[in-house]
Amino acid sequence: MLWYTRFMEAYPKDLEELELNFSSEEACRDYLASLRWPNGFLCPACGHGESWRLSDGLFKCKTCSR
Ligand SMILES: [Zn+2]
Repeated sequence: MLWYTRFMEAYPKDLEELELNFSSEEACRDYLASLRWPNGFLCPACGHGESWRLSDGLFKCKTCSR
């Protein structure tokens, strides 16, 4: 079963793969934002599409400031 052992060693664990893909927190946030808003930001309160980008990586609606 040597081939199997080598396969398991070469296969990246999920956390290691995540760290490689998201070496910075900002890259991770960008990825999550693109998952949540595939067509760009949409305010959950008023539906407006424009937002400020806060220093902590969060979005703030330009219209209602949510
Ligand atoms: Zn809004």
